[in-house]
Amino acid sequence: MSKECVPKDLDLDIIVQTIKTALPSEQKIIPLHEPYFGGNEWLYVKECLDTRWVSSVGKYVDLFEEKLAEFTGVKRAVAVVNGTEALHICLKLVGVQPNDEVLIPALTFIATANAVIYCGGVPHFVDSEFSTLGLDADKLRSYLREIVEIRSNECYNKFTNRRIKAVVPMHTFGHPVDLDKLAAVCEEFYLELVEDTAESLGSYYKGRHTGNWGKVSAVSFNGNKVITTGGGGAILTNDSEIAKLAKHITTQAKLPHKWEFRHDMIGYNYRMPNINAALGCAQLEQLPDFLEKKRQLAKRYQRLFSNIKGADFMTEPEFAQSNYWLNAILLAPEYKEKRDELLTLTHEQGILSRPAWDLMYTLPMFTACPKMDCSAAESIAGRLINLPSSVNL
Ligand SMILES: *Cc1c(COP(=O)(O)O)cnc(C)c1O
Repeated sequence: MSKECVPKDLDLDIIVQTIKTALPSEQKIIPLHEPYFGGNEWLYVKECLDTRWVSSVGKYVDLFEEKLAEFTGVKRAVAVVNGTEALHICLKLVGVQPNDEVLIPALTFIATANAVIYCGGVPHFVDSEFSTLGLDADKLRSYLREIVEIRSNECYNKFTNRRIKAVVPMHTFGHPVDLDKLAAVCEEFYLELVEDTAESLGSYYKGRHTGNWGKVSAVSFNGNKVITTGGGGAILTNDSEIAKLAKHITTQAKLPHKWEFRHDMIGYNYRMPNINAALGCAQLEQLPDFLEKKRQLAKRYQRLFSNIKGADFMTEPEFAQSNYWLNAILLAPEYKEKRDELLTLTHEQGILSRPAWDLMYTLPMFTACPKMDCSAAESIAGRLINLPSSVNL
């Protein structure tokens, strides 16, 4: 066969070269997302050690909650041990009960699905849209019109006869989903909206910070997120009563008293320790600067990839400002078998790129869960690659 008959192939070397051009040349290994400590971290953490206030008491938790609420524009933030537990408690707070179904993206990190399970609920998987990588509100609406029945202002799955209680959109890699559209779907079907804002601290939808749409939402401060507290998370809400309850449930449901230990419900030991909050306070001070640096890196990738055929750089949706937590490229559908080869090539060069998560319903724990057609999520998951995105790049 002559060379001319072979279809023009994707030039992987050019893609690897393009990624390298965007990144600092002196660094041998470039992780996907490293934390950056360039401010008051040492000062605040040392103060915790010096005063011995490292655990469940101390000023930094209150301060962190206050600053976080201020930054995100919510009324109250409640700091907890991690984002997964923030999400778990959010679902409890909106009334997810055992045997309820909760609509979540098939394309998400495992924590979204596990949080549903912790409530005794059943994850019900929803497709994504290409423009945001997150929940497709239009497709969800047509699907729900087919499968649900409203009984006294509650939504029931006609096929499983279970109540569907909530929808959990996730802002994938920091790119906000179309929240207005999704909120309208929730209203039509009597569903609670709970944003998984784990990846979207510093991301705005139509000028307002993500996490402001449903009654509650969950943020993560894991080591690989935009800012970190070591491990940590927060529940965001604009409802003071819910905030009070969130605080109570996450602090063993202990009634305030100088010496008495009295608890009035089943609570959880999910409070964020003071030493983690101290780290968080120092990180929050630098967040605007981090966001600016991440945006610059994203622009660099975007510019370089604009000349590359067969690989598209993922940009923020037109209605949003993304934090560009993790940069991503999508290979053209005809090149999807090249994904693993490209991952191998970049790793050989010390560039620790990564594929998207396996779709949730392909995992053994979730194969029996209900799902809609997820062809877009399947297409995305098969050809997406995350690129190094640390603040210091
Ligand atoms: C990171 C993350 C979480 C939870 O975070 P942890 O703080 O690690 O428990 C939840 N959902 C999504 C989508 C995430 O990326």
